[in-house]
Amino acid sequence: MIFDPQLKTIDCDYCYGDTRVKCSECKGSGQKECDDCEGSGYQVCHHCGGTGSGHGGHPDSASVCFACRGYGELYCDSCEGYPRSECQDCTGSGMETCPDCDGLGCFDNPDYDPEAVEGRGGDA
Ligand SMILES: [Zn+2]
Ligand SMILES: [Zn+2]
Ligand SMILES: [Zn+2]
Ligand SMILES: [Zn+2]
Repeated sequence: MIFDPQLKTIDCDYCYGDTRVKCSECKGSGQKECDDCEGSGYQVCHHCGGTGSGHGGHPDSASVCFACRGYGELYCDSCEGYPRSECQDCTGSGMETCPDCDGLGCFDNPDYDPEAVEGRGGDA
């Protein structure tokens, strides 16, 4: 890629000079969702397969699953019922410093040529 030699700096084409971009971890939401439960906070009870029924045996407790107490769901193991948490990468702001330009918004133009700028007026 060749840059215009008359420009001393090039706008960053990742953040377009804004210096900040949407956080790649949370996609700009500022929060992260638990992958294991897809944000629900619950997962299907693996003891009863979500039916809420017990396995039988003792007549008193046969009808209700001991693990989920008949709800068929348990709190997600990974997030313990709190599927959304503040994104650590952007501390909840949803934005992060542009990784391409380190937050400068532009780069030094490697093709910058001061003579190209000076010579500009003469030809036209
Ligand atoms: Zn940038
Ligand atoms: Zn984030
Ligand atoms: Zn979860
Ligand atoms: Zn259960």
